[in-house]
Amino acid sequence: MPQGAPLHPDFRPLPYWWEAWRPQEGEQQELPRRTRVAVIGAGYAGLSAALELARAGIEVAVIEAGLPGSGASTRNGGAVSGGVNVGKSFTGRRHALSETRRAALLGGAAEAFGLVETLIAREEIACFWEKRGRFVGAFTPAHYRGLEARLAELNREANSEARMLPRARQREEIGSDYYYGGMILERAGKLHPALYYKGLLDACRRWNVPVLAEAPVLGMHHDPALPADRAWQLKTARGTIEAAEVVVATNGYTGDLTPRLKRRVVPIASHIIATEELPADLARSLIPNGRTISDTPRVLTYYRMSPDGRRMIFGGRARFTAADATVSAPILHRFMTARFPALRDARITHAWNGNVAFTFDALPHMGIEDGLHFCLGCNGSGIAMMTFLGWQTARKIISGGNRDCAFDQDDFPTFPLYRGNPWFLPLLGTWFQLRDGLDRRGAAADGGGR
Ligand SMILES: Cc1cc2nc3c(=O)[nH]c(=O)nc-3n(C[C@H](O)[C@H](O)[C@H](O)COP(=O)(O)OP(=O)(O)OC[C@H]3O[C@@H](n4cnc5c(N)ncnc54)[C@H](O)[C@@H]3O)c2cc1C
Repeated sequence: MPQGAPLHPDFRPLPYWWEAWRPQEGEQQELPRRTRVAVIGAGYAGLSAALELARAGIEVAVIEAGLPGSGASTRNGGAVSGGVNVGKSFTGRRHALSETRRAALLGGAAEAFGLVETLIAREEIACFWEKRGRFVGAFTPAHYRGLEARLAELNREANSEARMLPRARQREEIGSDYYYGGMILERAGKLHPALYYKGLLDACRRWNVPVLAEAPVLGMHHDPALPADRAWQLKTARGTIEAAEVVVATNGYTGDLTPRLKRRVVPIASHIIATEELPADLARSLIPNGRTISDTPRVLTYYRMSPDGRRMIFGGRARFTAADATVSAPILHRFMTARFPALRDARITHAWNGNVAFTFDALPHMGIEDGLHFCLGCNGSGIAMMTFLGWQTARKIISGGNRDCAFDQDDFPTFPLYRGNPWFLPLLGTWFQLRDGLDRRGAAADGGGR
């Protein structure tokens, strides 16, 4: 047992969400020889694109390397927000954008949140969707002021219904004195990520969309000499499929199949633990209004209670790369008890991780590269955003390219010498911890309280 992380005897190194639904083999569908649109990657983005295309009467097949849902889309924290993170890089820095561009992006993010609500209602997805808001805890007084400076814009452009909560009133929202106050966003919600995924998958199946498991696309090329309806040839581990158009929806798992796209995303691992069921009084006291919580250090954390309100689901950047639960669980346990000392003896029942995709301008992107449609770069929050970009990509195909989306831009930057291997992440993680420690000590030395 790793020191400092009490593991439950029934501990499983798997997502807690998989207790309700897990990626499964199901009936192994046969690979069609041809389709109009081939979607690579069966996460939220791929399924959402496929569903919209199928609803418009366009033939589509989704091709997945592993089991459908085995990527990030059944592993995440389930916190859904409409834009608070847009433009914030994994270094914590905000990229300079013109006011008009920021307004358009925040408007798009707000639309993404609305799309999730619409899909859940229209497809009758039972996924414990609750619109209970988010509390963003300020790690230092300077971070509090930084959040405050964004308030008006978030309310104006993203309709966030945001307000500040000073430290003196923090216990109205969280059973902890860890933060220097924070921001409340009422237009935010939470769901069970695996059940939301299952709902999208069921909807695709109702429209007879083939979702092909264990068929990694190994290579593809476009042959202009062939008729346009089968000019794309995709070689998969289960045979070849021809298509008129291809959508790449591989996010944090983007690989050598698309080397130019791989150079534009940095896959970063995120890690989560779930505790055992807590005593009812303690569980109720931790996040009394049922919000989701995130915070502002560089090594950030995010957490919420389980849908039944009994367990703490606590995530963060325990490491920036994939790590065994024996490594990540003690670190997350330490982060959790720093915020909630009362959870010191709470045993961990599940620990898991998955990949998110960050981009060099901190923005999600969709567009066309080398004739391929792509939607990539969730930058940490992708439940709403990747559902939205999949849907937008489908709308673009349906309208023959005649459609505007703020995230559809020609400029998708990479970094000189970056080839898609983020060897620098462990160094960056250590540097961030150091900087966070200094910021925090500086805040305490200033007397910090508000
Ligand atoms: C631990 C964790 C916590 C998170 N918490 C939150 C949160 O609370 N709120 C939030 O909004 N977001 C959160 N996210 C982010 C969110 O989960 C992702 O943004 C979202 O799931 C991405 O969906 P996607 O469809 O783009 O990609 P994914 O779901 O990752 O799917 C991509 C798929 O592409 C497949 N693929 C790759 N290459 C190939 C190939 N060559 N052939 C075929 N298939 C291929 C992969 O196997 C994978 O299944 C979190 C992510 C993680 C990992």
